[in-house]
Amino acid sequence: MPSDSSPQRELFTNRPAWEEDDVRNGVIATVVLPEGVEKPLDYLVPNDLVAEVEPGRRVHVPLGKGNRRRLAYCVAVRHGELPQHPLKSVVGVEDEKPLLSERMLELTGWMADRWMARRGDVLEAVLPAGVRLRRQVKRVPLLVSTGEQGNRRPTKNQKKILDAASHPIPFDELLKVTGVSRGVVHRLLKAGLLLESGSIERDTQTESVNDGFVSDELPVLSSDQEKALEAILQPLQQGEHETVVLFGVTGSGKTEVYLRAVTETVANGKQAIVLVPEISLTPQTCDRFRSRFGKVAVLHSHLTPAERHTHWREIAAGRVNVIVGARSAIFAPAPRLGLIVIDEEHENSFKQATSPRYHARDVAEWIARKEKVPLVLGSATPSLETFARCLSGDWKMCRMPGRVGGSELPAVLTVDLRDRKARSKGAISPRLAAGIEWALNAGGQVMLLLNRRGFATHLQCKSCGHALHCPQCALGLTLHQPGNRGICHGCGLVTAVPESCPSCGVQEIVHRGTGTQRLEDQVRSQFRGIRVARMDTDTMRTRGSHEKTLTAFRKHEIDLLVGTQMIAKGLDFPNVMLVGVINADAALHLADFRASERTCQLVTQVAGRSGRGPRGGRVVVQTSTPEHPAMRAAAVHDYEAFVQSELPIRESLLYPPFGSVVRIVVRGAVNDAAADWAKYLVQRLTKSAQENDTIRILGPAPAPISRIRDRYRWHLQVHGPDPEMLRNLVRRSTAGLKTPKEIAWIVDVDPVEML
Ligand code: ADP
Ligand code: ZN
Repeated sequence: MPSDSSPQRELFTNRPAWEEDDVRNGVIATVVLPEGVEKPLDYLVPNDLVAEVEPGRRVHVPLGKGNRRRLAYCVAVRHGELPQHPLKSVVGVEDEKPLLSERMLELTGWMADRWMARRGDVLEAVLPAGVRLRRQVKRVPLLVSTGEQGNRRPTKNQKKILDAASHPIPFDELLKVTGVSRGVVHRLLKAGLLLESGSIERDTQTESVNDGFVSDELPVLSSDQEKALEAILQPLQQGEHETVVLFGVTGSGKTEVYLRAVTETVANGKQAIVLVPEISLTPQTCDRFRSRFGKVAVLHSHLTPAERHTHWREIAAGRVNVIVGARSAIFAPAPRLGLIVIDEEHENSFKQATSPRYHARDVAEWIARKEKVPLVLGSATPSLETFARCLSGDWKMCRMPGRVGGSELPAVLTVDLRDRKARSKGAISPRLAAGIEWALNAGGQVMLLLNRRGFATHLQCKSCGHALHCPQCALGLTLHQPGNRGICHGCGLVTAVPESCPSCGVQEIVHRGTGTQRLEDQVRSQFRGIRVARMDTDTMRTRGSHEKTLTAFRKHEIDLLVGTQMIAKGLDFPNVMLVGVINADAALHLADFRASERTCQLVTQVAGRSGRGPRGGRVVVQTSTPEHPAMRAAAVHDYEAFVQSELPIRESLLYPPFGSVVRIVVRGAVNDAAADWAKYLVQRLTKSAQENDTIRILGPAPAPISRIRDRYRWHLQVHGPDPEMLRNLVRRSTAGLKTPKEIAWIVDVDPVEML
């Protein structure tokens, strides 16, 4: 063993003095600012802060000429030689403990690269606002009796308290269990019979981390369910990563498989994250998790920052094992992660629409790989991206083609809307009406899907043909009743519908097209005496309104439910015997390469709500394009047939999953300025891509919605087979660009929305 006197050591201590003068050593922190400066900055860590500055904590640093104090994320610390130029110093440390683990920091770096986002934006997205702002987690003192005898015999109430506090007990709980007033407690404290012994954190609201019951009557799994579970448990038990896709028709028992896999994860002392599309829309799923596991952190969009903070700390402390939430729940700081599940993995809501424009599926895969845990993706209609990964053998697909309990998938009837007879009675064709009658007469319930809210979808002058538009968007106004209001679905602007045409002055404004409000009216007048409810964003504005309507529907207090795609998701109502799709083409012809996929998914999903009970069910799909592969596949419940027809189309156009797309959207108050900047970007991209004939640049062109809130919108797309190469190209050609003041532009890597 080399000792202090080893030659090595001597060599070191005998270093010539001049060398030491020249080399200054120190501690350097690399920080990222949440806003403003994009690139990471280095700061010197003064001696008195060395113990506290560490990656994952936020620090205060002086910035710019004025040395304004700014809060920044410390992302790395290194000991070593200081650079020649002087470094400014860190002036303070914000957090007591790191907010982000090394793994999470690494993730933010990867995300910034993958979606071409500012690292600062990513850091802010990964941490809930309540954590960043340190929304106070309430502390409650713990009280304990000293065991001393007072001068007098304690009163009955005093005795109750002293007994209850024989072990340390939180103040509020003490009041609750004894039912005694605060005054009594305070007097005991004063008299020294009761003592404060520290404090505990108390969440502001504990209802969502609830202690439910664990049900013991579990169904016997079907053989498909068994196989799927086995495919998940194998990597789970071996501590390996694998992505398992449950491609199971609606009602095939996917959720039951997730529940079993989570049970196993928890039994192994690990934590599980379960992502669901929009939590407020899936109260049923949450309830099933709650009743199975008791303590579940449900992270939904209606939580206050303080509530989020509480959950975050509970998860980080390892006190909650099951986390159910929307997209951002993937960042739950679980220290013992054992499993990630994404239900309805094809849903667009897993992609964030603002920077960082990440997709939770890709983030989940990254985390699952690093943590060596299984990732489970479930859907009746997996995204083409997911399908392709399974076909290539990268991911494992488990098929669950039948419903549990043997109920049949409902027969689907298509009604051709080009046939005039089909349109003779408003939005409900005679065949759909007959179907509704059939279901109602049999004591069943009905769901009608129409993906347009409002009363009428266009407002137009009958005399001159002028269509009423939003004054600040390139979008027509939708008529909403009551109140005869014209509402813009782009910006939300509400205007009174004028009596006469703003263009020709004639008093002949008419409305056309059916929205959910008008459909509801039509249903009420056509089927007298039935109980009707409507579910769309207009009727579901308040917290808990989804649950209320869905509960009423479950209890059969509602016969017919009209709704937007909100009703297509994950609902399981055995008594629904008929599902009607009013206009299946609504989204088919949008300028978006995913339009067919989305249409097929929506129709298949909503059809799956029908016939879950013993009496079976039917589906009526009204469409002007019954021959479209998306319709044909949905009509025979053969989503895979659609996938097979769609994949070659995507391949020939190099669209995902065969390539990557980077979309750039430019906005500006002046149309020409926005167009010019978009053109300039295309020029630069074209120049950089010259040697690369695999890359295609499309545009610039006005975006499908060419103006929103008085901002003109232009867009362009870059396609290529190699995502990394594509991002590098965009990076290279846009590096250091000085964007004109009046222009804003965003980069969306692998967009899911093209409007
Ligand atoms: P999916 O998530 O695929 O739509 P679910 O897991 O919700 O399917 O199952 C549909 C219904 O069948 C639920 O009411 C569920 O409780 C029930 N179920 C699931 N698995 C079984 C089983 N093996 N035996 C009986 N009923 C089951
Ligand atoms: Zn508008």
